[in-house]
Amino acid sequence: MIKYDVLIIGAGIAGLYSAMNLPENKKVLVVCKDIPWECNTFYAQGGMVTALDENDIPLHIEDTMIAGAYHNKKEAVEILSQTSLDTTSDIISRGMEFDTDENGNILYTKEAAHSTGRIVHAGGDATGRYMHYFMMVQNKHKLQRNTLVYDLLIEDGRCYGVKALVNYQHQTIYADDVIIASGGVGSLYEYNTNSRTVSADIHGICVEKGIELRDMEMMQFHPTVFVKTPFARKLLLTEALRGEGAWIVDKNGRRFLFDYDDRGELASRDIVSRAIFNHKRETGEDAYLDFSMFEQKWFHNRFPNITRTFEAIGYSFPKDRVPISPAFHYAVGGIKSDLDGCVEGIDGLYVIGEASSTGVHGANRLASNSLLEGVVFAKRATQHILGKEHKELKIPIFDKEYKNIVHQEKDRVYKHRLRKIMWEDMGIVRTRAGLLKAKNIIYDMKNREIGRLLELRLNTASAIVEAALKRKESLGTHYIEK
Ligand SMILES: Cc1cc2nc3c(=O)[nH]c(=O)nc-3n(C[C@H](O)[C@H](O)[C@H](O)COP(=O)(O)OP(=O)(O)OC[C@H]3O[C@@H](n4cnc5c(N)ncnc54)[C@H](O)[C@@H]3O)c2cc1C
Repeated sequence: MIKYDVLIIGAGIAGLYSAMNLPENKKVLVVCKDIPWECNTFYAQGGMVTALDENDIPLHIEDTMIAGAYHNKKEAVEILSQTSLDTTSDIISRGMEFDTDENGNILYTKEAAHSTGRIVHAGGDATGRYMHYFMMVQNKHKLQRNTLVYDLLIEDGRCYGVKALVNYQHQTIYADDVIIASGGVGSLYEYNTNSRTVSADIHGICVEKGIELRDMEMMQFHPTVFVKTPFARKLLLTEALRGEGAWIVDKNGRRFLFDYDDRGELASRDIVSRAIFNHKRETGEDAYLDFSMFEQKWFHNRFPNITRTFEAIGYSFPKDRVPISPAFHYAVGGIKSDLDGCVEGIDGLYVIGEASSTGVHGANRLASNSLLEGVVFAKRATQHILGKEHKELKIPIFDKEYKNIVHQEKDRVYKHRLRKIMWEDMGIVRTRAGLLKAKNIIYDMKNREIGRLLELRLNTASAIVEAALKRKESLGTHYIEK
């Protein structure tokens, strides 16, 4: 029998920072699907929020609450901001190098809906990549790749471990404590900016086990994405570009965002996304991100990744403007957790990072608060685990076998159908008729011969559509047309 003290599902920022905070004498296993750098953390560009000092905390809290349409859990937001002073200095003291000026002072950038520049970044626009690498190196515990968790072992209000495919072989892994750090739901959507490993499997297991998901109608769309590529993951143009002064323009170069909000390009994401969506719907024309105001050397230095990636597909920045569209970006809602990452009603089960709903983001996430949420609540969950008493567990027998029903032949066709419905009917602008149509199609697919993984995706999609149907009025990222 394989048994660990702590099993962490996911090797993004939340999973790795939990591992970094668990002592070496604990038997810890971190698992991830595929390769470890296939995760949203790796793709994060703009940076991580940190309160600048004690004086900035109330301002950061207020900015977060305004972006979240005051649907946020205030206590969680306070914890997020207050703890950021400790977690950011902890990461820096362990050796993480954020970008600095020539005198070694940290450079803070500003993004949409922040009242001041309080975002640290690394490698210019490669913050996620740098932080992920740093945490991979810092992690002293075993990390197992190619491990796909497809069931949680839960009985009588206790979690005992997971069932997983490890290099395509079925395995049962037991643990005293299981931390879910499996990220969001990106692969459910036709157009998304997410890693291919982020496909809502664990959310789907929770739906099946009656574990509460919260605010699932709150799905955030990033306004500035280049979607004209053949790959599922579309190319994000970070919010920091607008923070630094890039414009959103129509084909004639007019900054039409001011027709929608006085803050123009710096309005919150939901407003900017809907404005672009409306512009395209009403005019039938593209919207563009325009960088022509930037000096070339400065731009290439500040945004080296974006410059290189787009150069490879024929764009020369900052001279060329690029056509943009919104795309699914971030799951604001998730598996409900308390302020220590505990899943209520299930002993030994925690959830952190994008997979969770701590209530921090309310109805809409403030830019760059998610890397911060990952570290803050990872720290709190590990403190909770280390601080509690552990009794010897008598493990029940979990003998349900899945064999080869993990995938079925027609799953691929249904998966694509699901992604299309999610984009069209549970996207930026929703209607009751569209939601009901989506609900029926999902229900129909669930009753077909499908594999376990598709079943889990459909469970999560159902949770999103049900939550969207329940909320009759628009709020934050949930926008419903009559
Ligand atoms: C393009 C892009 C840019 C972004 N930019 C920023 C930014 O600048 N600032 C910011 O704050 N946020 C940003 N975000 C959001 C942020 O990156 C994520 O919210 C955050 O990194 C999520 O971290 P996580 O640890 O919760 O999950 P992830 O980093 O997504 O990690 C999920 C992990 O779970 C594993 N996993 C999933 N399912 C299973 C399963 N069934 N079995 C086993 N393992 C599983 C995956 O393999 C992966 O290792 C961005 C996101 C994207 C996509």
